[in-house]
Amino acid sequence: MLIGSRTKRPKNSKLIKSGAEHRLQIYKVPPKDTVTLQEFEEYAVERLKVLKAIENAGIRHIRGSEDYNHLVEKEVKKTKLAKIIRTDYSTDCEEFSIDHISHFILRLAYCRSEDLKRWFLQQELDLFRFRFLKENAEDKQKFLKVNSLDYNPISEDEKQRVLQDLMASAGRNSTTADTNEYFKVPFTEVLDLVRGRKVFLSRGFAYVPKDDMISILITHYRAHLSQQLAMTSRALPQLEEDNRLLPMLSGLSKRYLGQDYSSKKSNVGKITAEMIDSLSKQSFPPCMQNLHQSMKRDHHLKHGGRMQYGLFLKGIGLSLEEALRFWRTEFTKAMDGDKFDKQYSYNIRHNYGKEGKRADYTPYSCNKIIMSNAPGPGDNHGCPFRHTDADLLAQKLRLQGISKDFTDKIMKYTRDGHYQIACKYYFDATHSGVEEPDVNINHPNQYFDESQHFYSGKKEAKLPNTPARTGSQRSSQNTPRSQLSQNSQPTSQNTTVDDEMMDDDLCMAAMETA
Ligand code: SF4
Repeated sequence: MLIGSRTKRPKNSKLIKSGAEHRLQIYKVPPKDTVTLQEFEEYAVERLKVLKAIENAGIRHIRGSEDYNHLVEKEVKKTKLAKIIRTDYSTDCEEFSIDHISHFILRLAYCRSEDLKRWFLQQELDLFRFRFLKENAEDKQKFLKVNSLDYNPISEDEKQRVLQDLMASAGRNSTTADTNEYFKVPFTEVLDLVRGRKVFLSRGFAYVPKDDMISILITHYRAHLSQQLAMTSRALPQLEEDNRLLPMLSGLSKRYLGQDYSSKKSNVGKITAEMIDSLSKQSFPPCMQNLHQSMKRDHHLKHGGRMQYGLFLKGIGLSLEEALRFWRTEFTKAMDGDKFDKQYSYNIRHNYGKEGKRADYTPYSCNKIIMSNAPGPGDNHGCPFRHTDADLLAQKLRLQGISKDFTDKIMKYTRDGHYQIACKYYFDATHSGVEEPDVNINHPNQYFDESQHFYSGKKEAKLPNTPARTGSQRSSQNTPRSQLSQNSQPTSQNTTVDDEMMDDDLCMAAMETA
């Protein structure tokens, strides 16, 4: 693969017609296309979205179940690689080339450490399994042939000799053993079937029913891809001389892939400082509720908290003037106005691009909040699912009136390290009757938008039985949400949003006094 200039492809260098015999592949031959730097990045991001969708569906549902398939289809359809999960496109179309190229780009990005390799391998295998199982019998057979995986079924004589054992190993499907086709393979090629006691074993061979052939393919693909990742990793130092690709590749695994929430232009002017309190009870994610409550309690937030919360508020549409008013009102309950103006207003103007290098800073994504700058003593920033002691978190959920079922689910995902999924269940628990059970939470501002969307579509919605939405706080139902949601427009996709701001941050951190 050649990388051309940033945006312009050389003349006559359309993506090459592959001539491949099957749209499904285990990526043995590297692509020969020339792509621009922009395409290189775009294809990588699109495949990453597909792999994240696969991962997310695998965490939430049993692989191969109806819910799993539905969620994968729904999420992959939103990407530019939507066609790769269909079975009706030819190998000469552009999607085939993009599938091919994007796989190899991610190999480069994910061969850099054992953890990254493991993650990439698992998701690619799951993607392959999903795609292969969608193919019809004829295309499956063709795939096996093209990849020289032409296993021959055992003879009828041999089958009759071991039929009783085959029926015993088939469990509930024992009645079909007589008519099923079986393949005899070394047992090491189907360890998952052996582990699940799903196959009859004899003299080092496993008798695999035709429907379970996917296990053999997965074993082959795993071996091939593991070896290729190891080889790519050894070749990587040569690539590191290319300073155009290196920063992009090394940042890819931490990349936020969702919408850009740098500021909700359509809401600016509509959100006032006075509305924040009621909005926080209704639509803020736990991380921002926590910051809001800490600020109300202490009339102060330390630097990390001010950054995380200030940018979030900017992202929901709080203008600079309103932000200054909001922070000033709260901070001056514990300090005089002069001190606030000298020490804190710079920070706020900086977030809005009015100081320092005047960049339009972006609200932090969940990934960034979870992965970087863990809170220390006295800090209130971070993600409660990641940074709060598990027992304390469970206690807080119970105090909020979250049902036992939801609390158990949230705690399970929290303990397993799936913080954003735990957050999604928190969202479901506090938005009863939510219609999109499969929405993922990737960004605090997305949580806010989803919540606003929920309430705008359900003006009569009964608010959940949590302190945040009961008693005197109930009045918040009628205040800003419908107005906000009607005006919220999706902003453009922006995938380069996360780590742009730290130079000036350091300078501001030095100003931290508390
Ligand atoms: Fe906030 Fe994201 Fe954590 Fe939810 S998962 S609490 S939105 S950082």
